[in-house]
Amino acid sequence: MTPAANIAAPTRHRDVGMRLSSFAERVEVRCARCDRSGAVHASWTSRHWVARYMCAHCGLEARSERDDWLGSICLWGRRPCGYCGHQWLHVSEQRDFKADSSTVPDLRLTPGFGSIARTCPICAHSSMVDVSAHRLHVGDGHDPHFGLPLRLIVTTRSGPLWVYNRDHLEELRRYVGAQHRERQGLNGRSMMSRLPTWIKLARNRQYVLRMLDRLETRLTPADGA
Ligand SMILES: [Zn+2]
Ligand SMILES: [Zn+2]
Repeated sequence: MTPAANIAAPTRHRDVGMRLSSFAERVEVRCARCDRSGAVHASWTSRHWVARYMCAHCGLEARSERDDWLGSICLWGRRPCGYCGHQWLHVSEQRDFKADSSTVPDLRLTPGFGSIARTCPICAHSSMVDVSAHRLHVGDGHDPHFGLPLRLIVTTRSGPLWVYNRDHLEELRRYVGAQHRERQGLNGRSMMSRLPTWIKLARNRQYVLRMLDRLETRLTPADGA
């Protein structure tokens, strides 16, 4: 056999502009309360996502209609000291979903979420600071609907590698494995164009494919899209 007979035709991938959100109808996650596997199911109506999560193991539930959020939040507020009036008192702190919560916290993003006591460093009196809650979309590694940690994530030597689900994994594998990548007059908003550079580098191809194989071992037949 001649060496040329072993050379396969170069593989191609055509970026048709799919966004990351195209894969967000099913997101494989870990439960914020019991850490077991689950999935967020979502559908896009003309204006917004309708998403639902229900843990089959502990019953933790979240619905987008209620504005539920199971990820981290930031509490923020400030006011002048109520006594000396000169010193600004600030609140800026991150809170994570409490693993022992029996109910979904009400994290609607309204003013007057609550208030937190702060002590003035000048006069030492304590005043209550009204705070508002903001969702922290910790982009990498979290479900976009409820902020749950992704299940299909692996730490690589260059950074985290994650996918939402099997379809997402397979599309990424086609892209990474392709010797020729085509883009057709797309703006920079496609999922592929926004990938970190290390995933796109040819010299990392085999390494990234191995990492994707590792992620695939965590999928079961029931995890199909
Ligand atoms: Zn659970
Ligand atoms: Zn003061």
